[in-house]
Amino acid sequence: MTATALAQRDFTAVIGLEVHVQLETETKIFCGCSTRGNDAEPNTRTCPVCLGLPGALPVLNKAAVEAAVKVGKALNADIAEETQFHRKNYYYPDLPKNFQISQYDAPICADGQLSITVEDDRREVAIRRAHLEEDPGSLTHQGGSIDTAEYTLIDYNRAGTPLMEIVTEPDFRSPAETRAFLSKLEEVLEYLGVFDPTEDGSLRVDANISLIPTEEIDDGSITTSALESANRTEVKNISSHKGAEKALAYEVTRQRNAVERGRAVEQETRHWDESRGITVSMRSKEAEKDYRYFPEADLPPLAVADWKEEISIPELPDARRERFRDEYGLDSESAAKLTSTKAVADFFENVAEQFDPALAATWVADNLLGELNYRDMTIADVTDRFGEFTHLIELVDAGDITTKNAEEVVLRRMLDEELTPEAVIDSEGLGRVDEDAVVTAVTDTLDENPDAIADYHAGEDGAVNFLVGQVMQKTGGSADPGEVNTLLRERLEDWGHQQSVEITSFSWCGQWWCSLPIYPIVL
Ligand code: ADP
Ligand code: MG
Ligand code: ZN
Repeated sequence: MTATALAQRDFTAVIGLEVHVQLETETKIFCGCSTRGNDAEPNTRTCPVCLGLPGALPVLNKAAVEAAVKVGKALNADIAEETQFHRKNYYYPDLPKNFQISQYDAPICADGQLSITVEDDRREVAIRRAHLEEDPGSLTHQGGSIDTAEYTLIDYNRAGTPLMEIVTEPDFRSPAETRAFLSKLEEVLEYLGVFDPTEDGSLRVDANISLIPTEEIDDGSITTSALESANRTEVKNISSHKGAEKALAYEVTRQRNAVERGRAVEQETRHWDESRGITVSMRSKEAEKDYRYFPEADLPPLAVADWKEEISIPELPDARRERFRDEYGLDSESAAKLTSTKAVADFFENVAEQFDPALAATWVADNLLGELNYRDMTIADVTDRFGEFTHLIELVDAGDITTKNAEEVVLRRMLDEELTPEAVIDSEGLGRVDEDAVVTAVTDTLDENPDAIADYHAGEDGAVNFLVGQVMQKTGGSADPGEVNTLLRERLEDWGHQQSVEITSFSWCGQWWCSLPIYPIVL
């Protein structure tokens, strides 16, 4: 095809992801070293196995396998009856053995799917496989990025952390779809309790992308030959959802520009440079044969057949969202908020056991989550203060404190200063409102503000807000503004009624040119 003909064709972005997820276990996948290495001195969480010393033998961590089975079940994948580890050979200093123990033709999970929602459109992303492997050590490039650094520091604390590589089919058609997928995946992993999203680098993505002539994409599915003949790039070093979206958007533009100028896209591996916001060429793409895979003879094949049945998973986000709508009558937005993490959903359900679900939803979804979010806190920061939180709702429910004060004063100080609700109420003097005092304050306020009363009767509804403010001031903020509002309106209406009764005794203006009645002035 000539360059012009090529440039005139319509292309669709086709994207597939390889997602590396660190599984949360106490110890590494093939040795007893701790996985909590992030704050430790470099190279202190190591042993002969994860340093690859001669003669050291790997022993498989049962917890890592169980976590992998959970992920497989959550992705609705087939779990292997028997699985096998392979050596993936490559020379790079992040793995001192010069090979990575990974899985090849017998991955622990295959053929799954995960549904995502993009712009209200729900669809399934096919998962080709998900296998177990060991994480390499981490490299820190000094004085530049990977291609310009003066030297590189190596920390093997991370080497041997259990990693699951989840490979999707090339089912994405836009960078935004990959972001939705990664969020959903992270959500599911959090529900399973096998993943810590707050850990740096716990989810890393390689993104494969090619441009395929739109005419070759039929009903969303692409022929194998079109996929294979397309030159794709694999972008490495992406460590966030946003990063994936940005790196792919950059790559779509770069490839489109190449195609429009009649140039072929190189099949290559590129590196996402987060700080510069660009992808840079790293090397020509390696092929499978470059890795010389062969079975890891130090680890016998693993029978998962019977054991996999015993490994259970909790209710997942989609199912829980639906149940929250049915069982508690929540709207979609609240149901989504209240199931955003398993911890939030558990917290809400515990509150809903004690109160009306609608009240529980308002308190958890709107008040608590809003205030936590504002403070960069999460529900985990308050789970052990559950009793204090429900006590606050009880106090409001019993009328001991107003909703406004509970939301705007007590809850905020509870979070900022770790105080109990009582401590805040005492220190602010927000105790039970004296009804008589409120009534007196309303009467006094009306007496003192005849202008506002006149404005109200002239149709200026804003006058009521002014009066409410005055009453709130007189009661030191302890009255319920809603109640004060109602009380004031009742009084103002009575006032109007009294006036309309009295105006029946009007007399006519005596002037011949005037047909207006004269109203008596009522004060
Ligand atoms: P490799 O082993 O070379 O990385 P795979 O065939 O295992 O290649 O595929 C890796 C990833 O690349 C998968 O996520 C797959 O969906 C994706 N992929 C395959 N073909 C294409 C393509 N033409 N365009 C974009 N992504 C692709
Ligand atoms: Mg790959
Ligand atoms: Zn070790």
